[in-house]
Amino acid sequence: MVAQFINDDLLAEQWLQSYLKANEDIFDFKIIKPEIIAWIESNIKLPRTSSEYSGHFSYDLTPYWKEPVSHMHPNSPVRTISIMKCVQSGATESVIIPVILYSMSEDPCSMLLTAGDLSLAKDTVEKRIDPVILESGLSHLLRPHVVKRANNRSGDTGESKEFIGGSFRARGTQSATAFRQFPAKKVWADDYDAAPRELGKEGSVRGLIEGRQNSFGDKAKSNYISTPTETLTSNINEMFMLGTQKAWHWPCPHCGTFVKVEFKIEREDGNIAGIVWSTDNKNRLIPSSVAFMCPNCANTIQEKSKYELNINGIWVPGTDSPVERLHESYHFCGLALPAGFTGWVKIVEEFLQANPPGGRTNVKKLKTWNNLRMGLPFAETGETPRVNELMQNTRKYFPGVVPDVTCAADCNGSIIMLTLACDLNGIMDKDNEDVRLDWEILAHTTTGATYSVDHGSIGTFKRLRERTKEEQERDFERDKWTLTHNVKNSVWDTFEEVIKKEYPMEGGNFMSISITVVDTGFSEKLAMSFIQKMKQDKVLIYGVKGRTEATFRKIGRDTSAITRAKEHPNSLYILEVNQMKDDLAQMMKLREGSDGSQPNGFMNFPESRDGKYTMKSYFSHYEGERRTEEIKEGNVLGFKWDKKNSSSQNHFWDVRIYNNAAPMIYLDVLKRSDPRYKMLTWEDFVMLVSDL
Ligand SMILES: [Zn+2]
Repeated sequence: MVAQFINDDLLAEQWLQSYLKANEDIFDFKIIKPEIIAWIESNIKLPRTSSEYSGHFSYDLTPYWKEPVSHMHPNSPVRTISIMKCVQSGATESVIIPVILYSMSEDPCSMLLTAGDLSLAKDTVEKRIDPVILESGLSHLLRPHVVKRANNRSGDTGESKEFIGGSFRARGTQSATAFRQFPAKKVWADDYDAAPRELGKEGSVRGLIEGRQNSFGDKAKSNYISTPTETLTSNINEMFMLGTQKAWHWPCPHCGTFVKVEFKIEREDGNIAGIVWSTDNKNRLIPSSVAFMCPNCANTIQEKSKYELNINGIWVPGTDSPVERLHESYHFCGLALPAGFTGWVKIVEEFLQANPPGGRTNVKKLKTWNNLRMGLPFAETGETPRVNELMQNTRKYFPGVVPDVTCAADCNGSIIMLTLACDLNGIMDKDNEDVRLDWEILAHTTTGATYSVDHGSIGTFKRLRERTKEEQERDFERDKWTLTHNVKNSVWDTFEEVIKKEYPMEGGNFMSISITVVDTGFSEKLAMSFIQKMKQDKVLIYGVKGRTEATFRKIGRDTSAITRAKEHPNSLYILEVNQMKDDLAQMMKLREGSDGSQPNGFMNFPESRDGKYTMKSYFSHYEGERRTEEIKEGNVLGFKWDKKNSSSQNHFWDVRIYNNAAPMIYLDVLKRSDPRYKMLTWEDFVMLVSDL
């Protein structure tokens, strides 16, 4: 009986029930379990090595964890506890470990701890749980043959422990087999965002975990704990939304209102409260200025009051009708961390690194900051870019004119090159040739801001669904164009004129196109022969096409945006279009600084004239695509851009992608033209041409 008990938990549970029944008198004194917080504070001791707070464990520094922990008491009806948290939150030390030890001692049962993978779970046991068991003098609870001593690990893998009346197991969430064959009354799913969304045919990890708990009914308890990641696929965010959505609140020492601990809080008058700060005239943070502004009374609170604020803090639910019954969910933000951990100044500094004043937002840094510091999920711009704000970047120059004077007046230095790009669309069947070439000329400046110079279309092709009813009725009147060379209505002849034209500048001079890039994705053969022909005329011209094998951009991958195509290394470049579209979407969001300065990548446009640069003819194309996540088996592999719907037009958006690639191609060609330029950067190049 005893031998089987060690190896078979199902039997162990049954055995425990009969044992408890037979010994009701003996166990009477433990039927009313001690209050969990009091037990932990008087029994748990932290070893000197694991924490700077060694000695008797206390919730004085982390009082916010008392409520979730108290729901682990068998008398609490709460079934599920979800904690979405920042890093350094102390959830492992304060929520997981003490409750496991409490359960071993006072409420023995079968327990399961999961982490992203088995070795992480074992690490938690060996490096964090075992030392606390030893330090707290609770080793006697473990069955002798598995008592863990630092110098004697034989027979113990750190994956399981047995103690009177229960067992403990550590598992990784990567494989379904890890969950089979044993029951678990209490479960801690740590690092829950690392769990796959689905484990193939086995279903969701939550389903598998809670499947282990079926035999315990309402007495089972599940904890889901994690720092969140991507909004749409974050496991912990999903759990948080199913529960009571509680947030930590402080009592304002000025007005007494309980206020949510949040970085940015919009006040009723539209002003912003939460963390406030000032910068000096060089945009550097003034550390002493960092404070927390009460959204109710607008008085500021200093960080040194944090201990007092936390001691008197409370959890406030974010919803009064949670989706799931008996599910308490908590969001904990790094602003409430106790002294000795990352403080407000560092948090603001990191925020400013992600959002440099007057500069471009670094989305990767902002995501990391949101996840790790705020404990919040983050949606990488999944939305369609908006053009209303982009249209406000219209300046006082006309289409077809190079705005050198405007550029200097905008403090963007000088215009260093004009690039021309085109996108091709249409039908090239044997008996039906009907195409259109859309082009744009872009001026690139020394500061990285750009000015659109002109745009146009050659040819009349439109997809049926893009045509208005009137256009459809009058379609027979339309002149059709072709990509075929040396025939009437060949788009190439007209495009050649655009390439070779000299463009007037505001200052009175003329400027020609430095480099032309042609989309070869539609008809590579005909486009390449045009490129070869132009090359004979000493025109700097290259073909471009999007990478086809990688249809989406992998997360966290920052590859070179352009590479030479193997099949035409001297005349064709492959573009990482999804990456370049991410960048363009960011550029569209750029705003002028308060002093009117334009950040690197800022996009300027001429006034609308003769049907050019209107919403319909031009700007709407920038809203034609939408960024979507590439999800496989519940995991976000990356992002890609797709047309919003079949009738949305995206030609000038594509043309801009090619125009943004053009200076990179120019630089690449220059680097290969002379060994002295091999290491040339864009910044070097700008200096070089600015000195001319
Ligand atoms: Zn107040």
